[in-house]
Order: sequence, then structure tokens, then C-alpha cells
Amino acid sequence: DEEGRIQRIASSIRVIPNFPKPGVIFQDITTLLLDPKAFRDTIDFFVERYGDKKISVVAGVEARGFIFGPPVALAIGAKFVPLRKPKKLPGEVISEEYSLEYGSDKLEMHVGAVQPNDRAIVIDDLIATGGTLCAAIKLIERVGAEVVECACVIELPELKGREKLGGRPLFVLVK
Ligand code: AMP
Repeated sequence: DEEGRIQRIASSIRVIPNFPKPGVIFQDITTLLLDPKAFRDTIDFFVERYGDKKISVVAGVEARGFIFGPPVALAIGAKFVPLRKPKKLPGEVISEEYSLEYGSDKLEMHVGAVQPNDRAIVIDDLIATGGTLCAAIKLIERVGAEVVECACVIELPELKGREKLGGRPLFVLVK
């Protein structure tokens, strides 16, 4: 059943305290990837949710959005658009700065990858403060496209990242 599948996903995620620095409780999804049933179910939950919503773009946030985004994009017949850390994309880019639970950074997107008529979802492994997804949303909306929803495997609800998304819906599998 659905609850059992969610439970299996949740218990496949390894928790590592004080990584990458003291005070951070790191949620490690590499152990989820070692369980093919948990990984398959994770992708299936997203595909079931977005398969019939006329989504034309799956935008994945570097780096772990590059793991979960492409299988979803292929299954629903959408473009995959990587949102990358600075100076990785070779073409013309637009960029947005954001602050992280640990540090600050920038996300970049290729100009032309997303078109004004696109309907996008943004995928990452985890939402903490919401800064990363907020930057991703801004990149997509700046080119005139719609962010239909953000999707993460994990939410850390106590950090209230959801409130930073300006009312845009957020779908998560595990809290
Ligand atoms: P935020 O911008 O604060 O919502 O942070 C989300 C981004 O940072 C995601 O790309 C996560 O992969 C990463 N991240 C933040 N906090 C954690 C955590 N406790 N465990 C694993 N990844 C995290």
C-alpha cells in the first residue's frame, strides 16, 4: 500500500549528524538509491502525480535534482532542464542568488531552455529553508513560464521553507 511504500522510502534515507558541518543533520539520499524498490517508488509517486498535468518542463536543481528529475521527465514526456551552480553551463545564462542552510550560492539556467508557454515542475531531493527552490522558481518565472509545483523527496518542516515559496504548491514524500 501507499503508506508502506512511503515508509520504505523514509527508512532508506540515512541520517548523518554534523555533516557537512556541526549542527546540520544531513539527510543522505544515496542510501535510498541503493534500494531499487524505494528508488522506483519515489519516481513512480512523482510520475503518478504529474503524468496527466500537461507538464512540459522538469527542472532539476544541482546536484540531487539531477538524480530524481530525469527519470520523471522521461516518463511524463517533458524536457529536462538542469539548474546549475555558477560557471557550469556553457551557453548564455540567467542567474539567481540564494542562501542555504549551510552557506550561500547561485543557480543558473540556460537562456532558451524554458519558453514562456512552458508548464514546469521543479525537483530537488530536499527543502530546508526554501532558498534554493525560491531561486529556481524565480529563474523559471523570469522567462515567463509557469511553475505548477515544486516536488521534493524530503521536507524539513521546522525550517518553514514552504512559506518562502510564495504560495506555490509543494509536494513532498517524507517529512
Ligand atoms: P534550502 O535552500 O535551505 O531549502 O536547502 C535545500 C538544498 O540544500 C537542497 O539542495 C538540499 O540538497 C540541501 N540541503 C539543505 N539541508 C540539508 C540537509 N539537512 N540534508 C541534506 N541536504 C540538505
